[in-house]
Amino acid sequence: MLDDVCALIRENERFVVTTHLRPDGDALGSQVGLGLFLEALGKDVLMLNSDSPPYNLDWLPGSEEVEVFDASLHQHGAIAEADVAFVLDTNDEERLGHVGSMVRKSGATKVLVDHHLDPERWFDLFFVRDSAAATGELVYEIIEQIDPSRINERIATAVYTAIMTDTGSFRYSSVTPRIHRIIADLLERGEIEPAPIHEQLFDRKSMPGLRLLGRMLNRIRLCYDGQLAYSVVTQRMVEDTGASWDDKDGFVNYVLSVEGVKAALLFSEANEGAKISFRSEVDVRVDEWARSFGGGGHKNASGAYVKRPSFEEAIEDVIDAADRYIEFDDPHPTGDGLTPEDESYLQTLMEAKSDQ
Ligand code: 5GP
Ligand code: MN
Repeated sequence: MLDDVCALIRENERFVVTTHLRPDGDALGSQVGLGLFLEALGKDVLMLNSDSPPYNLDWLPGSEEVEVFDASLHQHGAIAEADVAFVLDTNDEERLGHVGSMVRKSGATKVLVDHHLDPERWFDLFFVRDSAAATGELVYEIIEQIDPSRINERIATAVYTAIMTDTGSFRYSSVTPRIHRIIADLLERGEIEPAPIHEQLFDRKSMPGLRLLGRMLNRIRLCYDGQLAYSVVTQRMVEDTGASWDDKDGFVNYVLSVEGVKAALLFSEANEGAKISFRSEVDVRVDEWARSFGGGGHKNASGAYVKRPSFEEAIEDVIDAADRYIEFDDPHPTGDGLTPEDESYLQTLMEAKSDQ
C-alpha cells in the first residue's frame, strides 16, 4: 500500500488533495502537510475543500493555500487534469461535500489515506489503517519513505497539529512509543516548538464560546445509573450567548470526564433533528451505536446526524438505544448508590429528627 502510494507520487506531476467538511486538526493538518510536501518535491498541487478552515485552525501555515470549492473553471480543470487525487481523513463521499462527486467522477487515480473503518470502495488505492492514531501518522509515513529531509517548519507544524489534535494532546489509547518518535522527528527536523501550537489551538477561546460551555455544563444529565452522560447545545443557547457553532468543538469531552461515566453524548440542535457526538472510555465502543443511526467513526469517538421531527425525539431515540450497544454494569442494589449501611444510618438520622 505505502509502496504503491510512494510510486504514484514519484511517477506523477499533478495532484489534488482534499479532506472532509468542517475540517478538524487532523484533516487540515494532514492535507496541508501532504500538500506542502508534494510542492516541495516540485509537483503541481491543488489543495481543495468544500469548507474553509475553522477559526481555531486559521493560523496554520499553509492553510491559506487551501482553496474553497467554488465550481470555477480553474478548479474543474485542475480536478479533470489531475493525475492523482488524495482523499484524507474520511472514506465517505458525502463527507467531502461538493468536491466528493467531482473527485469520484474524475479520471485521476483516487487514493484514500485514512484511519477510519469500513471505507467506501470507489478508491483506486487504499492506504488505510484504523489503528493509526491520526491520518497525520500515515502522511508522515509517506513523507518518511519518500524524503524526510524535505520536512521543514511548515510541514512539521501541519503534521504535528494533525497528530496532536487527533490524540487529544497525546492522551488517547492510540498513542504509542512510535507516535512520540514521530513527534520527536517532526520537532527536530522542523525546528518547531509545541507550546505556540497548543496556545493557538486551545488558548484563543472567545468569551461567548466559554459562556456557551457554561450553559452546556449546566445541562449535563446522567442516565443508566450514572454510566451514560449527555448534554445539549441548542440554537437558543448559541443565539443567547452570541457564540458560534464551531465553539462547541471539544465540549463532549467535558461530558465524558464525569466520574463513573463510560460513554457521553453531545446533542446539537439541527434543522430537522440532531447532530450527535459520541465518546467513550477505552474499553467501551460507541461506533456501532453511531452507525446504527447512520453515522460512523472510531471505537471511542463517533458521530451521526439523526433526522427526526423534533430535537427531543432524536435525543430520546439515541439514548433509548444505548443499552443495545453498551454493556452497562448492573445498577447498585439500592438504585441510588447508597450501601445498606448508609441507608440504615440515614434511617436512624431521620427517625432521630422526627422525634424532636
Ligand atoms: P465529532 O463528534 O468530533 O463531530 O466526530 C467524531 C468522529 O466521528 C469524526 O472524527 C468522524 O470520524 C466521525 N463522524 C462525525 N460525524 C459523522 C457523520 O455524520 N457520519 C460519519 N460516518 N462519521 C461521522
Ligand atoms: Mn482523523
